[in-house]
Amino acid sequence: MTERLYYDDAYLWEFDAVVTASGRGGKPGEWLVKLDRSAFYPTSGGQPFDTGTLTFGKTTARVTQVEADREGDVLHMTDREIPAGTPVHGRIDGERRRDHMEQHAGEHLLAGAVYETLQGTTIGLHVGHEDCSIDVTLPEERTHLTEEEIRMLEDLVNRRIRQDDPIRCWFPDEEELSRLPLRKPPTVAEHVRIVAMGDYEMVACGGTHPSSTGQIGMLKILSTSPARGKIRITFVCGGRALALFQSYMRSADKAGAALSCPVEKLSRAASDLKGKLAEAERRANRLESREILQKMEAGMEDHGGILLCAVAIAETDPRAVAAAASDFVAAKGRLLLLCAGERLTFARSADVKVNMNDLIKRVGRGGGRPDMACGAGIPECVFTARKILMTEGMK
Ligand SMILES: [Zn+2]
Repeated sequence: MTERLYYDDAYLWEFDAVVTASGRGGKPGEWLVKLDRSAFYPTSGGQPFDTGTLTFGKTTARVTQVEADREGDVLHMTDREIPAGTPVHGRIDGERRRDHMEQHAGEHLLAGAVYETLQGTTIGLHVGHEDCSIDVTLPEERTHLTEEEIRMLEDLVNRRIRQDDPIRCWFPDEEELSRLPLRKPPTVAEHVRIVAMGDYEMVACGGTHPSSTGQIGMLKILSTSPARGKIRITFVCGGRALALFQSYMRSADKAGAALSCPVEKLSRAASDLKGKLAEAERRANRLESREILQKMEAGMEDHGGILLCAVAIAETDPRAVAAAASDFVAAKGRLLLLCAGERLTFARSADVKVNMNDLIKRVGRGGGRPDMACGAGIPECVFTARKILMTEGMK
């Protein structure tokens, strides 16, 4: 079985080892390499694998993925073949590992705080490219957290980060293990490894952790959402939290400059602007609708006491058209056949008996009520409908 060097030293970025087995990988150009000892972390417990290099002689192979097999050996996927028996110098990507350690250890503190304050049980960790998430079962199948609860969790976790409490990992014997106050029972029966943070988090874990909580830097919850009866808490830690803060500040500063207000007043300024925009839209709509109404009235022809308007106009806001059509037929004895762009609106006053729903179906696609119907069509539909009315009458 591969000796896992990261168990004893999570900061071991370089090591020497010997290849114990090698072969072709699953993809073209991919090779599998087993070592007698390795500092490379294989994906498990929600913490992603390490990447890095294996150097032998003057040749360097890239390690693109790392997994553990059933026997407990660590499998390194490389872009070059390295024959068994070759001594290699391994180097892992420290930036990537440090990021994973920050997210992973932050998750411990968050899961511990959720358990301690809300009696929530965490069942999974996912470290994504941008953010991380845990799924939590809360008492009474609650699937949401209040703003105050989110704030309380963030405050508690970040206080423990600032306290810079020690983080310790060890393999207890069976007797010691049975006495430990673990947050949840171990999922493995043998070689149970324990991680303890301060005096508030203790759980079985095979992952890599910094030596103290201060190295997590910071934890920020980004969102919570229901997830199949559980609640998913999305968060970021350490360097990711700083990068997000920087990106949000850049956006906020730009928005503030655009709205000529300080960042603290952005939300008020945005809501004022939204109100003004809605009012301006309403006003523009009223104006547009009045213009359409004028066009309708200018196009009226008198057919034995019924004023018929059959017109085609350019495409325009359907809300303005609907308002103008309603206004047009509010007066008695009116009939409207309108095509705006590719949209038909057929309407009539209450005292006119023609069924507009039937009529629109005879000339285009659409439908509605006997007094007003809408649909899709072309200007030709309006003139066909007019012809039908001229032939069949408008009573
Ligand atoms: Zn852990």
